[in-house]
Amino acid sequence: MLVVMEHEATPELVAKVCEEIKKLGLTAHPMPGAQRTAIGVTGNKSRVDSDRIATLTGVQEIIHVTRPYKLVSREFYPENTVVNVGGVLVGGNEFTVMAGPCSVESEDQCFAIAEYVVKAGAKIFRGGAFKPRTSPYSFQGLGEKGLEILAKVRDKFGLKIITEAVDTETIEIVAQYTDIVQIGARNMQNFSLLRKAGRLKTPIMLKRGQAATLDEFLMAAEYIMSEGNHNVILCERGVRTFADHSRNTLDLSAVPFIKRNSHLPIITDPSHGTGRREIVIPMARASIAAGADGLIVEVHHQPEKALSDGAQSLTPIMLEQLMNEMRRLAPVVDRTCS
Ligand code: PEP
Ligand code: MN
Repeated sequence: MLVVMEHEATPELVAKVCEEIKKLGLTAHPMPGAQRTAIGVTGNKSRVDSDRIATLTGVQEIIHVTRPYKLVSREFYPENTVVNVGGVLVGGNEFTVMAGPCSVESEDQCFAIAEYVVKAGAKIFRGGAFKPRTSPYSFQGLGEKGLEILAKVRDKFGLKIITEAVDTETIEIVAQYTDIVQIGARNMQNFSLLRKAGRLKTPIMLKRGQAATLDEFLMAAEYIMSEGNHNVILCERGVRTFADHSRNTLDLSAVPFIKRNSHLPIITDPSHGTGRREIVIPMARASIAAGADGLIVEVHHQPEKALSDGAQSLTPIMLEQLMNEMRRLAPVVDRTCS
């Protein structure tokens, strides 16, 4: 259920309505908007008898939400959520690019790549310190040492940082270092991890699972939001199909579907979505055309030596080309890319 407050409703009236909702044994999630505040109501097992709420001062309208996901749905919050990552916005008019290596390998490697990322004009630096690898014998990441390197990248280059948390034991330490915590595809339905992410203040980027439907994807985001963290960015990173010309199939129709059904920003990952660097730029073009709010791409100054995902890592020249193309395409879809 969604309680829409009148435009003039004061914070005191909003608080009073939240109190009444709690008295009914339900949870209230106030969501201030540009025009008015809406209060999401969750915790009901069946349709709520809303008469008591409807008559409270300041309440304009009650909307019964029929979808399984509530807080993430556009019915709940009609405006676009803009996630503020320390001044860099995701989900607004700006098309935001995150770029960097798959794995943090060393300080030298990150500094070299960060220089190219800054030169190309991307604002957020990616790099995994804790890596979810298919094989236990593959490089697992530098762990906390990797986080320290990322913090140095932030200080030296003025970039924001995104890095992955792979489990509940390390998510808090990851959050201390980073500007966005990534939850990877393999963990999309790790519900205890999602709940813990929901208790953080740090923005979360949630990647779609390799075989997840969009309802499952949105329900996973609902776990995070239901714990109080509303700063969620979604990421389409490709799903498993019969296709063997690419590592995954980047499901671009997910972008308009999510935009229609959710207020959360959605970006794409054409690196994991294709697995091949030659296809990354064309799929990035398609992503901006489909309405994505940005991209996350892998880049390496020496991709042939990369400890993970070298084949899909752009070279620095390709990253520059990608950014130039996004800058040219952005106005065509009424966006900016600075
Ligand atoms: C990554 O971003 O490096 C990664 C492991 O992504 P995914 O979870 O999409 O496979
Ligand atoms: Mn990778």
